[in-house]
Amino acid sequence: MTAADDTERVNGGCLCGAVRYQLKPPLRAVVACHCRQCRRTSGNYVSATSVPRENFALTSSDGLKWYRSSDSARRGFCGECGSSLFWSADARDTITIMSGTIDGETGLRTVAHICVADKGDYYELNPSEPQYDGLDYPEP
Ligand SMILES: [Zn+2]
Ligand SMILES: [Zn+2]
Repeated sequence: MTAADDTERVNGGCLCGAVRYQLKPPLRAVVACHCRQCRRTSGNYVSATSVPRENFALTSSDGLKWYRSSDSARRGFCGECGSSLFWSADARDTITIMSGTIDGETGLRTVAHICVADKGDYYELNPSEPQYDGLDYPEP
């Protein structure tokens, strides 16, 4: 995808603006992950959407750094301001984008909380949002 054809695109970026991206809808519904890695990297827990890789484009990558967080995935963050932005699994044809980095209203809703077995003890979850102990959840 090129940044030039920008009808109905969703934009987002990091706190300082050194990383900016553009997504082509539709975006997957939001999934929140409470695993140890997500909690450490975000400072609380991760809330994220995703799109196929071909519907993802970086419009500014000046600050973008990738951290290999496991044998199978990397996490993208801004080296200038520290924002956590992306999760990218080597074997997946989608890229995961942290919901809070999207500009303005998303129109999305949270359909699953995963890895709830590892959640912190200092917050409660909305009982109307489905919760799963592990990584697996039924695709909406
Ligand atoms: Zn930044
Ligand atoms: Zn996680």
